[in-house]
Amino acid sequence: MCGVLGIMGGYNLREARELLLLLTHRGQDASGLLWQTHGVMSSAKAMGSPAEIDVPEGQADIVLGSTRYPTSGRQVVSEAELDTFVGPFPKGDIAVTHNGNITNVQVHSRKRYDCDAEFIADMLQLKMQETGNSLPEAFRRLDTDFDGAYSLVGLHGDNLFAYRDPRGFKPLVFGRNATHTVIASESIVLDMAGLTLERDVYPGELIIFRPDGSMESHSISQSSTHSHCFFEYVYFANPASRMESQLVYDVRFRLGRALARLFKRRGFPDPDYVVPVPDTSRPAAQALAEELKVPMREIILKNRYLGRTFIARSQKDRDAMARHKYLYLEDKIRGRDLLVVDDSIVRGTTAKMIVADLRKRGARKVYFAVTCPPQNHPCYYGIDISTSRELIASEKDLEKIREFIDADAVIYQDMDSLVNAIGMRDNCLACLDGRYPTEHARWIRQVAAQSGESCTGRDYERIVG
Ligand code: AMP
Repeated sequence: MCGVLGIMGGYNLREARELLLLLTHRGQDASGLLWQTHGVMSSAKAMGSPAEIDVPEGQADIVLGSTRYPTSGRQVVSEAELDTFVGPFPKGDIAVTHNGNITNVQVHSRKRYDCDAEFIADMLQLKMQETGNSLPEAFRRLDTDFDGAYSLVGLHGDNLFAYRDPRGFKPLVFGRNATHTVIASESIVLDMAGLTLERDVYPGELIIFRPDGSMESHSISQSSTHSHCFFEYVYFANPASRMESQLVYDVRFRLGRALARLFKRRGFPDPDYVVPVPDTSRPAAQALAEELKVPMREIILKNRYLGRTFIARSQKDRDAMARHKYLYLEDKIRGRDLLVVDDSIVRGTTAKMIVADLRKRGARKVYFAVTCPPQNHPCYYGIDISTSRELIASEKDLEKIREFIDADAVIYQDMDSLVNAIGMRDNCLACLDGRYPTEHARWIRQVAAQSGESCTGRDYERIVG
């Protein structure tokens, strides 16, 4: 998961950086801005959030931006690595940045890329040369070569463009007014830029935006089914974002209602409080509380000065970060029965730590409800879970998971409720049901399963390479 941004129409660079900041939740390992003024490209990148990017005063005709989440390759450890680890990447008169994960990079290149966006930029440049500098033709060729998820923004000469892979795994939206066009991973960016969301970029669609405000839409490839990443709704996206015409907040709220029905069905007594694990599960916890007619209390508070624990690479680092991640309202815990709500249990680190913390502070019962069904298959499309060994649900059954996190009960969302809450049938649910929508990913899964998946990170490439 990463965030991408494209802006056209004389835009102040510091304001562009503010817009990119809104995509920090999609990746805070590193970030980059590239801008073009009178045909000349410049860029600035930083380790960490876009706030760290040192941009000069002034305006640019086109700006591209990227926030990186390390799914391919490790975390950025030094400034010297920024050029190859985080987009945007310039190649000739093209520059590109992307969100997603190409599963078959190694099929097309012997070079080891630190970031798929650079691979895409190289391939796009090559295809442009083969097709007499035609973007639509180049994308037609790319689509036959690529397998995976790629929502991208780029510039070509004076034009800005957006492309979304045929299955539309990752979100991409745009808005325009008389002077500006903004493309972004999430619609909150358009809101802040003062633009109305025009629509999502359609799966398989290339849109070329021209400096005079016009746009050209090319249908590059059509897939009979789409595979929108359901986890965007569950976890990744900002609740205020709209994607595929839905407000993410509303989906999360419906997920909470569904969980309440499951909680009742399993016959548990009403808890004293419903407690969200901040921040993603708040709308779901609110819905659960309303449905159960039990108060919601924000007993667990986030330490705002730490990054997302998931992004720490080693289990030791993750444990240490998880220990410092939350603060607790101690006197609302002692002697109480608590129904804690989180969006997901991946390795189980967070859930285990929270239950232990609540028990230490005197909670009588701790029920742990999860808005996502068990994730027990790796994701090859851009979530940082590339081997099933990392996933507690692939190794343990429900009772063993409950034992591991030491809760009185674990209540997972069921698949039907998840799909109903999202309200669309064409989602990618591969990390839940193991049904990978693309061919190369299916092949990787098969080979990785046969070889026992002994690595972590995007090491499936090493397993099968
Ligand atoms: P874990 O502690 O490994 O069980 O991970 C679950 C916690 O990490 C939950 O609180 C989620 O909010 C968060 N989370 C789940 N999936 C991801 C992901 N792909 N990237 C970052 N954070 C995640």
